[in-house]
Amino acid sequence: MRIRQIPIIPRMANYCHVVIDDAAGVMALIDPADPEAVLAALEDETAAITHVLCTHHHWDHSGGNKALAARLPGVEIVGSADEAERIPCITRAVRDGETIAIGGLKATILAVPCHTKGHIAYRFAEPDPALGDALFCGDTLFVGGCGRFFEGDAAQMHHALNTVFATLPDDTRVYCGHEYTVSNLEFAAHAEPGNPAITRKLEWARARREAGASTVPSTIGEEKTYNPFMRVAEPALQKAMGGADPVATMAALRETKNSFKG
Ligand SMILES: [Zn+2]
Ligand SMILES: [Zn+2]
Repeated sequence: MRIRQIPIIPRMANYCHVVIDDAAGVMALIDPADPEAVLAALEDETAAITHVLCTHHHWDHSGGNKALAARLPGVEIVGSADEAERIPCITRAVRDGETIAIGGLKATILAVPCHTKGHIAYRFAEPDPALGDALFCGDTLFVGGCGRFFEGDAAQMHHALNTVFATLPDDTRVYCGHEYTVSNLEFAAHAEPGNPAITRKLEWARARREAGASTVPSTIGEEKTYNPFMRVAEPALQKAMGGADPVATMAALRETKNSFKG
């Protein structure tokens, strides 16, 4: 399994990811919202694009579907059955636990509603035993943060991050939909001062960005050390946020982050 990352929509810092099965000569595009930029970046590839995989309906994720359906006749456009009517040109509506084959690769759908009502993640099984699986999680989990609760609540985000994602193996690679790492970790440092994992990751992320490099992917194991939204069971964080339990802490974190100016 080969994975490429294409930065798109610079003002929103989106990433389109591409999963390629070289042996089968096929590839899948995840959230290719700017088809011109994505197709230009893939000009050197010989594999055929067989699938477009949408994590959720927001235009910066599914807004390229119509143009891609026209450019690539027969392409399968996959999205959540719970928001199928809002995903342009969808050809396959999927639910939690279903699997999709991309050549010899297999992706499992994980339903993680909250950011949107039908948000899904795609977990690709990595054939190479030396590498972890790859999780394409859109706007649910970010490096050091999480998406806004546009169509859901704190209990749903807690379930998504701390039950669905937290129980994946620690070496699972986290490919999120935006480059928000530095601002997320600045908030994390405010929410949980004195956590050295946050300080280290923030220094690393700033250096990466100054060098023009991406900070994505991370891993699930890493996120548990510095991402406050995956640390809502920590007593110190609960106390700092005034949350009596993980769900209340999740809600308080999100509300505080929404107005955080750094
Ligand atoms: Zn979104
Ligand atoms: Zn987005």
